[in-house]
Amino acid sequence: MSNNYQSLVNKVKKYCSIDGLSRYEEAVVDELKKSVDSKSMNYERDGLGSIIFSQNNKPSTGPIIQIAAHMDEVGFIVQDITDKGQLILSMIGGIWPLTVIGTKAVVYNAKGQKYEGVFGHTSIHILEIEKRNKVPELKDLYVDLGFNSKKEVQDNFIEVGSRVCLSGDFFQMNNDYVVAKAMDNRAGVAVLEEVMQRVQNKKLNNQVYFVGTVQEEVGTRGAKTSIQKIKPNIAIALDTCASHDTHQAIKGIQELGKGAALRIKDMGTLMDPKLIDYLMKIAKECNIPVYKYVAQGGGTDAAELQYGNGGVATITISLPQRYLHSPLGVCHLKDLKAAADLLEQLLLKLDEAEFNKYIKYN
Ligand SMILES: [Zn+2]
Repeated sequence: MSNNYQSLVNKVKKYCSIDGLSRYEEAVVDELKKSVDSKSMNYERDGLGSIIFSQNNKPSTGPIIQIAAHMDEVGFIVQDITDKGQLILSMIGGIWPLTVIGTKAVVYNAKGQKYEGVFGHTSIHILEIEKRNKVPELKDLYVDLGFNSKKEVQDNFIEVGSRVCLSGDFFQMNNDYVVAKAMDNRAGVAVLEEVMQRVQNKKLNNQVYFVGTVQEEVGTRGAKTSIQKIKPNIAIALDTCASHDTHQAIKGIQELGKGAALRIKDMGTLMDPKLIDYLMKIAKECNIPVYKYVAQGGGTDAAELQYGNGGVATITISLPQRYLHSPLGVCHLKDLKAAADLLEQLLLKLDEAEFNKYIKYN
């Protein structure tokens, strides 16, 4: 592996190892707080828990930019406990149950203590023939923590609402691929941290706000609240997207190792064409691998960010990922570095004159 990726590798590993289900993002917040130089950067919180960093000495004029990476991850909470002590689940975000069955479940009780168990299933040997070719649904899913009764579960302070997280340890594969659970969107958080560290001590001619948003996976809720506080001119959602470079995936152009992907359109947003052009111009000038794509499903924080303060020039910068919302996601370090380079260059270049010339409606 080339050494210039080491700082990103460390960050991806750090953030993906955190369990931070939607509504429980504080452990990610703590790491972000530790990552910046407090002499250069300060932070505030919004009422839902999103964290908003900005430079202490930021200018009072110049375009206001919000860069948002969601901190939360998909998982489950306990909906019910069976008499035999197994946990019935309610989904947080979208998970195809097939991808977690047979993997390790991590459960947190009301005191924050961690328990390990199995997303259980009926062994094929004793599975009714007609069920073998059927895809399991949420109602079939449960967690087995090795308890023998409901009382035993309750005595361990595991209750309705307790968090159930996916598990998948970080590792690296050949050719600069990185693998871990919660890659969506800790890869984005890692890039956010990288960009903050690169520019925090620089004199910029814009007012940038770096935001870790909460609850994206359940409806882009932290984007909705943070945008109201910041009132930016430009908003950028930094998130992973599905790649099409695997066996039998539907046709599409996003693939790993091709650079940062600029999303043109998804279900919730038509990205700002002037902002797209401006970013493509920077990418070309600085030789950063970047390409455009149209998403064939899903949405990002951009869907809410665009509505801030009477309308905001908005785009999603995507980090292509394999196996989203499953115990092991795969990203490519080249793509993460390209996104960081692009954002860094944007922040170094964008001033009032550039904003007026290239992006603002006149
Ligand atoms: Zn995401």
